[in-house]
Parts: sequence; structure tokens; C-alpha cells
Amino acid sequence: MKRAIYPGSFDPVTNGHLDVVERARKLFDEVIVAVAHNDEKLPMFSLEERLELLNQTAGKIDNVRVTQFDGLLIEFARNEKASAVIRGLRAVSDFEFEFQMALMNRKLESSVETIFLMPKEEYTYLSSRLVKEIARLGGDVSKFVPAIVTTALGKKFKR
Ligand code: ADP
Repeated sequence: MKRAIYPGSFDPVTNGHLDVVERARKLFDEVIVAVAHNDEKLPMFSLEERLELLNQTAGKIDNVRVTQFDGLLIEFARNEKASAVIRGLRAVSDFEFEFQMALMNRKLESSVETIFLMPKEEYTYLSSRLVKEIARLGGDVSKFVPAIVTTALGKKFKR
């Protein structure tokens, strides 16, 4: 059983994340989308909200499971008997941080490989941060996120 973890903040999940999930699930028997607990990024959506939005989207896809994790990613990967960590690469700007993380994780646990997947070109400029910014300013985000996320963002920014 080949299992991969796709970790992140998912604050909130976007079509870019879902594109990466679709690619990953073709390579592995199971993909675990894992929402990070210990988020220094001060998320807009609570852990429960982020999990709910993921459960209603990624969680509906075959051989994809949604869960949360706390502490070291590599420890979580070990407990789940995962052989790979999936990360999305959008642009060169993602590279430096991701490269550092991947090599550090390899030092911590050499049996877990980090695999980078590129989304469809139209998602390379998409980030949760930008989506939140557009929604905050009253723009239309429906092309970038699943419908339930558009609704959830609408509720957050109701004036
Ligand atoms: P983190 O806080 O760990 O960066 P994110 O939720 O922002 O969490 O992203 C999780 C993963 O998904 C990261 O590897 C990120 O590069 C990737 N990702 C985010 N948005 C996109 C996108 N539009 N296309 C491809 N990958 C993406």
C-alpha cells in the first residue's frame, strides 16, 4: 500500500490544492490531506472549518482521506506509514523554502521522499492568501475555489 501525505494550512482549500490532490491520487493508493494544527500563520478559518471544507471537497474523491496533524510532519508520516510527502510547486518563489524543508525532512527521516507536483498553469498564480484578499475586497473568487468555499468566504466578510 503506497501512501502519501499532502500537508498544508488549507486556509481555505483552493482549486490549486484540489488539482494537486487529483495528480497525487493517481500515483498513490491513498493520499492523506493533512491540515496542520500548529499554524503560526494565524489562519482565518479555524481548524474545524478548514477540515469541514476539505471533507466536502477533497474528502469526496476516491482514495483520498482528510485529517489533521500536530507536531512534526515526519513523525506523522511515520505513524501513517506514508512513503512520501506531496507539495505543490507553483513558481520559483516556492522553491527555496520547499527545497529547504524537503532536505531537512530527509535528514529527519530518510525513508520519506518529498514529491513536488506542478498544478495546471492556470492555478500557478493561485494561493489561499490571494483568494482571501480578493474576497475581503469584495471580488469574485468563484473561479478559484469550490462553491462551498466561496460561500464560506462570503460569510466571513459579511459587513
Ligand atoms: P502551507 O502553509 O504549508 O504552505 P498551503 O495550504 O498554503 O500550506 O499549501 C499547501 C501546499 O499546497 C503547499 O505545498 C503549496 O505550495 C501547495 N499549493 C498551494 N496553492 C497551490 C496552487 N495553486 N497550486 C499548486 N500547489 C499549491
